[in-house]
Amino acid sequence: MDMAFLESSIGVEDLVLLEPLEEESLLKNLQLRYENKEIYTYIGNVLVSVNPYQELSIYGPEFIAKYQDYTFYELKPHIYALANVAYQSLRDQDRDQCILITGESGAGKTEASKLVMSYVAAVCGKGEQVNSVKEQLLQSNPVLEAFGNAKTIRNNNSSRFGKYMDIEFDFKGSPLGGDITNYLLEKSRVVKQLEGERNFHIFYQLLAGADAQLLKALKLERDSSGYTYLNREAPRVDGMDDASNFKALQSAMIVIGFSEEEFRQVLEVTAMVLKLGNVELADEFQANGVPASGIRDGRGVQEIGELVGLNSVELERALCSRTMETAKEKVVTALSVIQAQYARDALAKNIYSRLFNWIVTRINESIKVDTGEKKKVMGVLDIYGFEILEDNSFEQFVINYCNEKLQQVFIELTLKEEQEEYKREGIPWTKVDYFDNGIICDLIEHNQRGILAMLDEECLRPGVVSDSTFLAKLNQLFSKHEHYESKVTQNAQRQYDHSMGLRCFRICHYAGKVTYNVNSFIDKNNDLLFRDLSQAMWKARHPLLRSLFPEGDPKQASLKRPPTAGAQFKSSVAILMKNLYSKNPNYIRCIKPNEHQRRAQFSSELVAVQARYLGLLENVRVRRAGYAYRQAYGAFLERYRLLSRSTWPRWNGGEREGVEKVLGDLSMSSEERAFGKTKIFIRSPKALFYLEEQRRLRL
Ligand code: ADP
Ligand code: MG
Repeated sequence: MDMAFLESSIGVEDLVLLEPLEEESLLKNLQLRYENKEIYTYIGNVLVSVNPYQELSIYGPEFIAKYQDYTFYELKPHIYALANVAYQSLRDQDRDQCILITGESGAGKTEASKLVMSYVAAVCGKGEQVNSVKEQLLQSNPVLEAFGNAKTIRNNNSSRFGKYMDIEFDFKGSPLGGDITNYLLEKSRVVKQLEGERNFHIFYQLLAGADAQLLKALKLERDSSGYTYLNREAPRVDGMDDASNFKALQSAMIVIGFSEEEFRQVLEVTAMVLKLGNVELADEFQANGVPASGIRDGRGVQEIGELVGLNSVELERALCSRTMETAKEKVVTALSVIQAQYARDALAKNIYSRLFNWIVTRINESIKVDTGEKKKVMGVLDIYGFEILEDNSFEQFVINYCNEKLQQVFIELTLKEEQEEYKREGIPWTKVDYFDNGIICDLIEHNQRGILAMLDEECLRPGVVSDSTFLAKLNQLFSKHEHYESKVTQNAQRQYDHSMGLRCFRICHYAGKVTYNVNSFIDKNNDLLFRDLSQAMWKARHPLLRSLFPEGDPKQASLKRPPTAGAQFKSSVAILMKNLYSKNPNYIRCIKPNEHQRRAQFSSELVAVQARYLGLLENVRVRRAGYAYRQAYGAFLERYRLLSRSTWPRWNGGEREGVEKVLGDLSMSSEERAFGKTKIFIRSPKALFYLEEQRRLRL
């Protein structure tokens, strides 16, 4: 057997084979491979991918064909190999699959998900009908990216939402359609961006790509610098052609099935958001001297009114005042300039995020199938990884909560399942200690006592509620919790930490400690839009805009408040978890090699942190303690019985005895295999590699 690949200068292809196994050697191995443009490495069936930041000629039809015809360990590690295993097992063994792609921003998750999708699209089914389904599924990407991606400091094309997509297949493995779920669009970006970052791509695409006539109809100016919501110094992104992306967006939407009219309405609503940003509010005083606000230059509001069929006086009134309803009467109060600006921005964010949700729903209407037959499903999850920023707020809190849950899926599905299977099969197991993060998930999500529940309680409680009362409540409840820290609890333990502000609390996540600032937790969780605004939107003649605000219909105005942002996120995470638990998981762990989006640069320190967040070393340890491969006796015998004279061409004995014969004839060492109750276990990938090679020689 050719073992050269194990010790070659490009490092081991499977970290399970690493010697000695420690963080340093793991990093060195990844670096060595990276320097040789080998961006993929396995840990058993987990794929580690290091972003190359350059076009590699390892993709495309030729490579797809290659990986389609070989089994997992025969070729170099590749994302196609993983996609192939998942797809084949879905098609041939009828096991629903999910592909979980994690890593931090810029690590290559979205690119990975597209590679998986294009691989599956290339190998699954043929024919006109099937091709049009594939085309629709693939074209959903540019649409979602236009509205959901933006340039950030870390990634020029950063997804600002989480995405889970189910691709559905018929019994033959031909695609039928799909279903997309989106999580938490970063809507604050609509009104404000960090220095050097941009708003969502669509705004720039529209301004750069629309022809003069369309711009005029939308009442927009070509120059993006005139728009307050885009008023940052980064109008362009290297290597990104906004104008041609606009054309691509248009054709993608048509392929998916948006009508010309729908496309136009989407643009009108988008234009409205831009124009809202330019509505300037100014101080005014009421007769009694109470501060109030008004609109400085009526033209903008007038144009918005014309764009979406809205009475501009009414829009102004909705922006600058607020109606309080009591049982007996309606009281209208004027808003101060600050309040009115807040209301305007809240409206813009709300319109945009609802528009995004509507687009996802509309795509689903096109790609969803409702045939009676049982479908096979492959889920692809592309979601923000664990986040630790300088300043962590509600958004990071929920993102990290989601990652905590994903880690739990990983622990439960991989580690526990592994141990339990050994137990079931009666195979001795050397116990691997691992950290069970259930306690952290509980701290956050417990129905009565979790942080999210506390936040909701504060949001709904009558009386004076603030971020501080929320924090005080947490401090009181969790002062003894081993994964919770704050200045107050630290004081009690005399471990004064100057790095943590008074308005912060800290959670010891599985991946590290994160300090959250409670400022605006209440506000973001409440996510309320003044009723005056939703009612004004509902009065618009614009069918799309109007449909985004159903609660503005006075007849619909139920007094029940919608669920909070936290509660909504928690329940969508719960649905996602249930979905993932019902499928066979495949993992892609993405790593960003440097902070500069630069090719051929590998920062060990940076990668070390990510490897820790991703739990790579732990993953290898578990894999090594156990067996890399296992298969039911029957299936294994079927595949390899041609390797022994006793079992080929005919074998009349039991399945397990047959497997014993095969492995005996090949004199595989007893170290390398174990016989379970129903399955054969092979310790190392190289042993499997050897079996496959022998088989190929005989075919
Ligand atoms: P994430 O979704 O994790 O934030 P992306 O998938 O958007 O990261 O990747 C960021 C950028 O890195 C991409 O725009 C692309 O330029 C580059 N990149 C990622 N994966 C690859 C790859 N396999 N080959 C070439 N470039 C890649
Ligand atoms: Mg992404």
